[in-house]
Amino acid sequence: MTASLPAPVSAPDTLRELALELGFDVAGWASATVPRAAWQGYGEWLGSGRQAGMGYLETGAWRRADLGSSLSGAGRVLALGISHAFAEVPVPSGGLRAGRVARYAWTPDYHAQTLPLLSRLVKEAASLGIRARGFVDHGPVMERDLAGRAFLGWHAKSGMLVSTELGAFVTLAALLTDLPDVPDGPAHPDRCGRCTRCISACPTGAIDADRAIDARRCVSYLTIEHRGPVDWTLRPGIGDWLLGCDVCCAVCPWSVKAGALARSLKPDPELAWPDLRGFFGTSERDFLRRYGHATHARPRRKGMARNAVTVAGNLRRPDLRPILELAAADAAWEVREAACYALRQWEDVRGLEQLRRDPDERVRASAERGLRELLDA
Ligand code: SF4
Ligand code: SF4
Repeated sequence: MTASLPAPVSAPDTLRELALELGFDVAGWASATVPRAAWQGYGEWLGSGRQAGMGYLETGAWRRADLGSSLSGAGRVLALGISHAFAEVPVPSGGLRAGRVARYAWTPDYHAQTLPLLSRLVKEAASLGIRARGFVDHGPVMERDLAGRAFLGWHAKSGMLVSTELGAFVTLAALLTDLPDVPDGPAHPDRCGRCTRCISACPTGAIDADRAIDARRCVSYLTIEHRGPVDWTLRPGIGDWLLGCDVCCAVCPWSVKAGALARSLKPDPELAWPDLRGFFGTSERDFLRRYGHATHARPRRKGMARNAVTVAGNLRRPDLRPILELAAADAAWEVREAACYALRQWEDVRGLEQLRRDPDERVRASAERGLRELLDA
């Protein structure tokens, strides 16, 4: 009797197993042929203007329909997910700390952390005679569609990919390869059922009925990507969000069930609870020295200062009073403009009257608005 030999491990299995060893939490293969419905849906979202100021999403949008434009001969894609479901982190001592940072921004920038893992996969693929290219949220690849077709989860009512295993706190990535195309199996079933928790919990009503987010109202967009003043009517909805928002992920029952299971990415308490004073009285260069490795760098120093004073206005906590004073004297007009909103929330007529004499017309107009609102109240 001869012992049976173990079945040879295929190249797709080797790459998938390596991805999990490297730290991705879920991985699965999908065809590189993008279904018509996926790119049509994306085109409709762009056509409706819900990408707000993210014009870069429109540049070369057609390439999302043709993955061969990103890697010639693209046949199969390894869809990847990594959890950022962290447990709470302690507030560091010292400094003036308030407001929330979304969990995806608690670590040094996830692009920087995920790209080396993708590079390892590209090298391994090359050793197997496979050409490959990695993407994490920076190329013409529809990661959510791929992940759904790779059976990692489903396109949920929140507009996110949700996994029964990981919940909604998932960062997606993709490894595009020239492996021969294999048609997809059935897509992951929709497991939202009758739940609508994410839609009800969204502070600004940014989740539309077609499972898409309207960035024009989304706190994540407003605090990270949006430049300049935020629409006054949306500022109360920003609440205590200093950077990003992940309410729709946190309330999802699949996230609650999954718990805090992030194993590869490590949170940094100084990023989760930054000292608000660090956004004032400093140059953009010094700010970048401190935060250049993090999502905090995206809105830049003046964006973080704008966010900090908006939070101080909404919270009206006495210990945050110094933030209003720092913002009212800031060098950037956008920050002084945000101070007008905060002073209005604090019903600080004197502070508004001072900003009514600001050299910048846009600040003066907001100070007038704040005073008018207080008079009308
Ligand atoms: S991130 Fe926040 S504001 Fe944006 S859709 Fe989710 S809950 Fe709404
Ligand atoms: S909160 Fe409910 S509706 Fe929203 S994504 Fe999760 S399961 Fe779906």
